[in-house]
Amino acid sequence: MIIGGGFGGLAAAQTLRNADAEVTVIDRTNHHIFQPLLYQVATAALAPSDITAPIRWILRRQQNTTVLLGEISSIDVDRKIVSMDYGSREIPYDYLIVATGSRHAYFGHEEWEPLAPGLKAIEDATEIRRRFLLAFERAEKATDETERDAYLTFVIVGGGPTGVELSGALPMIARKALYPDFRHIDTRKTRVILLEGGPRILPTFPESLASTAQHDLSDLGVEVHTSSIVTRIERDAVYVGDERYSTRTVFWAAGNVASPPRDTAGAPSFLAYELDRLFRPDTAGPELRAEAGRIILRGLGRTELPAEDRAQLVRITSSVSGLSAPDAERRVTQVLANARTAASQTRKTAVILGFSLAAALLAGAAAAWMAAGVGGKHRDGEFAPPLRWGMVR
Ligand SMILES: Cc1cc2nc3c(=O)[nH]c(=O)nc-3n(C[C@H](O)[C@H](O)[C@H](O)COP(=O)(O)OP(=O)(O)OC[C@H]3O[C@@H](n4cnc5c(N)ncnc54)[C@H](O)[C@@H]3O)c2cc1C
Repeated sequence: MIIGGGFGGLAAAQTLRNADAEVTVIDRTNHHIFQPLLYQVATAALAPSDITAPIRWILRRQQNTTVLLGEISSIDVDRKIVSMDYGSREIPYDYLIVATGSRHAYFGHEEWEPLAPGLKAIEDATEIRRRFLLAFERAEKATDETERDAYLTFVIVGGGPTGVELSGALPMIARKALYPDFRHIDTRKTRVILLEGGPRILPTFPESLASTAQHDLSDLGVEVHTSSIVTRIERDAVYVGDERYSTRTVFWAAGNVASPPRDTAGAPSFLAYELDRLFRPDTAGPELRAEAGRIILRGLGRTELPAEDRAQLVRITSSVSGLSAPDAERRVTQVLANARTAASQTRKTAVILGFSLAAALLAGAAAAWMAAGVGGKHRDGEFAPPLRWGMVR
């Protein structure tokens, strides 16, 4: 049984296409979303149907696979049963893969969510699009100049890939596509402000790419403010300490958390499960590896980590576990040594966990990192190969 028909769930299902197994994929929507193009829907460049496809259709040729539409509300690990649609149906399983993706994290400020929506689902994209386009309509009607300026100011919180893409797309639409359509406002004067808590945008990318992106954003007229942690969001303003940005439209791209089913009594979350493996001294533990900007976990096999990734892993380990830095360093060394030993005994790759686990692990770790104040800045939690972010160059 696979919960979730996103990248992770689909990859798992497709891997099992020739297995002697009955595979069931359950998702609360009937469609898979190609999230990398969500921002295009959010900025009205693409329609929702351009980036979605029915999960049932994608898996139609896979005879061993059933697709069910339903929300999993709880998992009972002891009885090996998931409960669908709030208990109206229970479904037994032998093996369970939870690939339910991630949601936005507001770092303890959930009250900000209605004021600053994030971008994960089609509904988020259409809501952002609605707010984006309505802001221009309201600016056109505004009689007060200050109010008009506030409508023409867009603040994006979070300088990770999503924030960078969004803030790069907004001025292009505003200046090029919308400009001829309005009479009382000059959409070319639209202000886009990108607020990043850390010292640079795209913190998970190489510094050279981040600085190119920052340069390109500046060329587009985006005001990029780094080391700017948002402290308050109101209906008509965003605050960074005492600094006030007057705006009616804020978008959130600052953090992710894993989105497990609501009640997972007895079911370890992906993050908890993997950390449990990571910290249990008597197991080989997984290998964690950063590849093309994405952390990959494999059961056994490759065990080398470049120094930079290793340092990142130590930081994550320390913040998630509460271990001191030297203890975290020792733990990581031990895990990798165990993995090396095990790998030499058996060459089989035991577990390949895709996007979902990497996203959940790192998003959860980033949230914990943030909550613990370690690192002192948010992490976007999305790990994309740089060239996939076409807008950056
Ligand atoms: C705007 C944006 C742009 C991105 N761009 C890139 C990019 O360019 N390159 C890149 O590599 N990555 C990119 N990413 C990241 C990438 O999309 C994610 O890492 C990936 O989608 C995660 O896959 P997943 O299967 O874990 O989760 P998801 O794709 O989110 O899928 C989770 C699925 O689980 C379902 N679900 C959730 N809860 C339940 C439940 N309780 N019951 C039933 N079903 C449930 C959901 O409906 C959903 O279909 C981007 C992400 C975003 C948001």
